[in-house]
Amino acid sequence: MDREQIEKSEMIFDGIPASPGIAFGEAFVINVEDLSVEDERIGVDLVEGEISRFEEALDETKKELMDLSRVLEDEMGKEHAKILDSHILMLADEVMRKDTVEMISTEHVSAPCAFHRVIEKTLRVFDQIKDQYLKERSEDIRDVRRRVIRNLLGQKVDGLVNLRKEAVVVGKNLTPSDTMGFKRKFVKAFVSDMGGSTSHAAIMARSHGIPAVVGADGFSSYAKPYDYIIVDGTTGQVVLNPTPETVKLYEVAQERFRQLEAELLTLKDYPAVTLDGRKIELSGNIETIDELDDIISHGAKGIGLFRTEYFFMGRETLPGEEEQYRFYRDVVKRIAPDPVIIRTLDIGGDKIANWVDDRPEENPFMGWRGIRFTLSRKDIFRTQLRAIYRAAAHGRVRIMFPMVSIVDEVRAALAICEEVKNDLSRERYQYGKDVEIGVMIETPSAVALADHLAKEVDFFSIGSNDLVQYTLAVDRGNSRIAYLYDELHPSIIRLIHETVQAAHKNNIWAGLCGEMTASVGVHGTLLLIGAGLDELSAPAFLIPEVKKIIRSVTYDETKTLLKKALRKSTSKEIRTLIDKYLKDRRPELQEFAIKGSSEA
Ligand code: PEP
Ligand code: MG
Repeated sequence: MDREQIEKSEMIFDGIPASPGIAFGEAFVINVEDLSVEDERIGVDLVEGEISRFEEALDETKKELMDLSRVLEDEMGKEHAKILDSHILMLADEVMRKDTVEMISTEHVSAPCAFHRVIEKTLRVFDQIKDQYLKERSEDIRDVRRRVIRNLLGQKVDGLVNLRKEAVVVGKNLTPSDTMGFKRKFVKAFVSDMGGSTSHAAIMARSHGIPAVVGADGFSSYAKPYDYIIVDGTTGQVVLNPTPETVKLYEVAQERFRQLEAELLTLKDYPAVTLDGRKIELSGNIETIDELDDIISHGAKGIGLFRTEYFFMGRETLPGEEEQYRFYRDVVKRIAPDPVIIRTLDIGGDKIANWVDDRPEENPFMGWRGIRFTLSRKDIFRTQLRAIYRAAAHGRVRIMFPMVSIVDEVRAALAICEEVKNDLSRERYQYGKDVEIGVMIETPSAVALADHLAKEVDFFSIGSNDLVQYTLAVDRGNSRIAYLYDELHPSIIRLIHETVQAAHKNNIWAGLCGEMTASVGVHGTLLLIGAGLDELSAPAFLIPEVKKIIRSVTYDETKTLLKKALRKSTSKEIRTLIDKYLKDRRPELQEFAIKGSSEA
């Protein structure tokens, strides 16, 4: 076999199933490592040509950035495109240009080498500056350097906004900034080397109904642009350069998946009620307004989690009250008369905004996140709350605070809500008067304090994604320890049960808006029904499946299942317990099982 054949032979990778479905397509590789630049000397006779090559690469990069800026402006608005304006300005920097040309002429090195060295010098200066804003600009400088050097070397690898035909998107990691501005119609699937089942890429893929596999260790270094790939987001397998026989097998599986989806959609207008009559409010999770159509067409009764932080990201300045008000109002009106739970800003962790000018943190997930951030930036918090209360005049709104770990945080936030309402009243604004307020239960401390928290608010919504991360001490985005990230772990099941008990004892309702219904499928959903949750919020494309499960069981039998699960000491035992139940009692639901964790 020659090298070409070896490179093209079929390879199968096992990753974490992140968003169900099967897709085929050519690879579009993004966020590869920085290109390595050799110390390349050139002859005197080549100097002129090398300088022209450099000038051309600058022009080409400028054109590329301007095109990109237009696309971003069209798709996401002016504010988002501003980031690229600063990149275009950097390219026009006369000192940088002169220094590079001089280095090529006097030191006789190639254009990529000279440009790399000049930028390296600038970056060293930036690294010494204390000012955080300027420090952060060094990332922009690196980005510009990458683009220019790629153009010099004739290598085209780029961000998702540049994707203009159908492809499977492959990357080492897929962060919020990598995926910003992507066009759903071109993205057939996502595959990333890193990430867990509740990392950003997984959540985003699910909410758009795009098959995805994360944690496919090393995949991006094998996949070359235009390689043919099959992605099975249900089993977590990715096949690189499949044989015709493999393609056929997956085509059959894809057909079955489509059939099942169509069958489930027929339940769209039926209520989410168990066979013995327990009704569960089934709502959807959204990050952006364009996900609303999917939420509605998949039969959700309202929105159980509106992650507002995405509106604040990928822009240079904060959105003001009017802009936010219009944004929330549009969502509230579209979903009315059903309710929407608007979560206040949950910036921090892996959700970074350019306008936050503070120290980088050693442990961002344990740091300045969610309510901790908004309580220390009350200007931002107040503006958001004013906009939400004003939008609440147009429909049914509930407000929810993320990342609560102590009771004082909730009291402080409630006091600000009161002030905001008083101000709006005084200023004669229309605003929602009967807005329910809830907290996310996503830290172990919030569970331990649930009986106290329940006395402060109107509802709970369990954030299982973070609750698992903080309870099991396992970073939700780290694929190396993803085997420990397990929503079926007995400690998680106990905490969920405890939370619902505390809520009901204090006469408030409890929901769950983490991705548990999606990431552990039928096993998780059955236990959530049995735990007595009043509301479940899921990504759009999972809603029909969750509804089907609810409508296929009795509340009574899931309560018994939960009771038995609470006595188990490992997640494997819990999984076995549910497997047996499914086999004996509800074999038709086995189809909704998702590959389990390996915990013994
Ligand atoms: C959660 O933690 O479960 C949650 C819903 O919030 P996020 O995924 O946005 O952190
Ligand atoms: Mg969370």
